[in-house]
Amino acid sequence: MNHTKSLSAWEQAQKYIPGGVNSPVRAFRSVGGTPIFIQRGKGARVFDVDGNEYIDYVGSWGPLILGHAHPTVLKAIREAMEDGTSFGAPTTRETALAELIVNAVPSIDVVRLVNSGTEATMSAIRVARGHTGRDKIIKIAGCYHGHADALLAEAGSGVATFGIPSSAGVPEDFTHHTLVVPYNDAEAVRKAVEAHPEQIACLIIEPIAGNAGVITPRDGYLQELRDITAAHGIVLIFDEVITGFRVGYGGAQTLYGVTPDMTCLGKIIGGGLPVGAYGGKREIMARVAPPPGEVYQAGTLSGNPLAVSAGIATLKTLAEQGVYEQLESRSAMLADGLKSAAQRHHISTFHQRVGSMLMFFFTDQEVVDYKSAQTSDTKRFARYFWGLLERGVYIAPSQFEAGFVSLAHTENDIAQTIEAADAVLRSDKL
Ligand code: PMP
Repeated sequence: MNHTKSLSAWEQAQKYIPGGVNSPVRAFRSVGGTPIFIQRGKGARVFDVDGNEYIDYVGSWGPLILGHAHPTVLKAIREAMEDGTSFGAPTTRETALAELIVNAVPSIDVVRLVNSGTEATMSAIRVARGHTGRDKIIKIAGCYHGHADALLAEAGSGVATFGIPSSAGVPEDFTHHTLVVPYNDAEAVRKAVEAHPEQIACLIIEPIAGNAGVITPRDGYLQELRDITAAHGIVLIFDEVITGFRVGYGGAQTLYGVTPDMTCLGKIIGGGLPVGAYGGKREIMARVAPPPGEVYQAGTLSGNPLAVSAGIATLKTLAEQGVYEQLESRSAMLADGLKSAAQRHHISTFHQRVGSMLMFFFTDQEVVDYKSAQTSDTKRFARYFWGLLERGVYIAPSQFEAGFVSLAHTENDIAQTIEAADAVLRSDKL
């Protein structure tokens, strides 16, 4: 496969953009080598600037559950665009998206639209603090909630791959109120709560950890968190930026039957355009400005008509019958195929899947938290990544990310992917 044009595009980009990329994981640092530059996408496939074609499991890191350039989404954007791109005044389209979200997500009575997942989590925490009058927050090691200062403590995603515990440029004072506990450990939460009575505003968690690979909640874990937080007046926030509308129309909270006080969304609800959202119980969301809401949060482009229209088209398509069943069966086919291939070639792997988010760790251990995730052989993952890429399959360039199956992936795409993975796993060099 020839990557000459990608290489020169990257060299050019580095002259003007830090590391040549606008988000760190795109730089391929954790797998070595240099990034590929994408020209376009259609359905389950992306095409790079050298004309190479890949079956894509990144899906823009989650939003593209319908696949690339989905006709219904493009039509909605085009129609909205004809009316103008932004007004900084309310539009009925925003209400339409909000209504779809409220009807789908059990914890959300009222929702505020923002422009990214980072803004959603940052704002939700501010509201939780305003609501409780408390300062401290609990976050879970390996969960990533965007790059707001207070949340860059033992975060997953790009932070995990670079092995930095937090980020330079974040004063210690800013994370001083952030308590970090392991995933799947309710006892650690109980202890943190007891050690700081009446001081904890909220607990924020990805109900399925999707930024340290994919890590699933143990039976009863989320309910225990619900019980502890309810008993102590702590706002329970589910960060469903990945899982919302991904693991089911109502997200992980519907799947596991645990309803938090607040929920953060992003990715899918923008259909590939920049949108985030945070919402929750009416009495909590009543804290949000305008007055009498006294917690300030705003955005020039929040509720942007193009982005909101892409979101509406996506959610309406997802609400059609049989959609999640198709995602489930295609994803199960892929997961089973990958698992058999690894077993056939005696490679130690630990596989995880919830609906259409899936991946496997190169480890012989059970992965239940951030620490066990880090037993994975990331050098082997890097060789696997490049092996797949060379065979026309594009997965996230990091062991600590989820793979996403879309509605556009055909059985043929999945079969081709399994064949490619089998060839890589079989190779002596892996
Ligand atoms: N929360 C979760 C669970 C995420 O996965 C991400 C991004 N991958 C974010 C928050 C931040 O979203 P954004 O990149 O849109 O700021």
